[in-house]
Amino acid sequence: MGDNDILIEIKYSGVCHSDIHTIRGHWGKQIYPQVVGHEIAGIVTAVGKNVTKFRVGDKAGVGCMVDSCMHCDSCKNGEEHHCETPGGRVLTYGAPDKTSPTGITQGGYSNNLVVTEHFAIKIPENIDLKYAAPLLCAGITTYSPLMKANLKRGDKVGVAGIGGLGHIAIKLAIAKGAEVYAFTTSPSKVNDIKAFGAKEVIVVNKIEDLQPWYGKLDYMISTIPYAYDLANYISCVRPYGYFTQVGQPINGALELNNSLMMNNRVNFNSSTIGGIPETQEVMDYCALNKIYPQIEIISANQLNEAWDKVVNKEARYRYVIDGASF
Ligand SMILES: [Zn+2]
Ligand SMILES: [Zn+2]
Repeated sequence: MGDNDILIEIKYSGVCHSDIHTIRGHWGKQIYPQVVGHEIAGIVTAVGKNVTKFRVGDKAGVGCMVDSCMHCDSCKNGEEHHCETPGGRVLTYGAPDKTSPTGITQGGYSNNLVVTEHFAIKIPENIDLKYAAPLLCAGITTYSPLMKANLKRGDKVGVAGIGGLGHIAIKLAIAKGAEVYAFTTSPSKVNDIKAFGAKEVIVVNKIEDLQPWYGKLDYMISTIPYAYDLANYISCVRPYGYFTQVGQPINGALELNNSLMMNNRVNFNSSTIGGIPETQEVMDYCALNKIYPQIEIISANQLNEAWDKVVNKEARYRYVIDGASF
């Protein structure tokens, strides 16, 4: 442990679809053994001598990255996830790491984690660690693009894919004053989604079900983590509106039908997580406004089953592993 590091005893660790994609090699070759998990919440049990942000006993969280160069323009602007130095951004698991015995960073399905204090998020006293954990990936990944969309009160926001990320996107967009239209392929989620506050739930059985929605939305965010008919979803946004893709399919591959795109004039962007200041912001915002993910606590020995349920769209809506079970 270095002078700028803290040691966190992990109390809860969220299960993200990225964990599954990574271990199953969907995003490329991996080095094993690899411990995944990047929604980590716990208690600080030791601090290095230069640490000022944390004291022993504080609540702390770690999301998807654990280091960056800290001197490029992006890092200086608190956009560490866009670190411009090649290899500068270090992801929480699977990234090359000379200090690790396995040669790679190891994530949060574990008892303890050491991290440089800058990359740890302060978790306010008034939010339970089990609710804080999913905010560190699912929360920031949806909050950051929603904030960049400059929503105005009453804007019509579409959320496509209502799982771990999508259900938090709904809650965040509503809290920011938007009218939310949720697009799901799971009829069994309709009542839950209405309870989250969505104005309307659109069950997409076939792609034609989207046509009545063409041009109706001001903004849309998609969390769908597999290949899908992207252009038809994008067409639900009005001309010159914005659409953000945050789900990452197998090998990053998404097909785009240009005949639709050239007619809809929607601005497409793709996004991943957010910087450390914005991750702190979403944590503080959710604690203050009591915006909590809907979670199910599992023990480590239920993980294989939980992963299958995530893939089969049966999770409701974020599994969080009890750290005591590792
Ligand atoms: Zn994630
Ligand atoms: Zn940098």
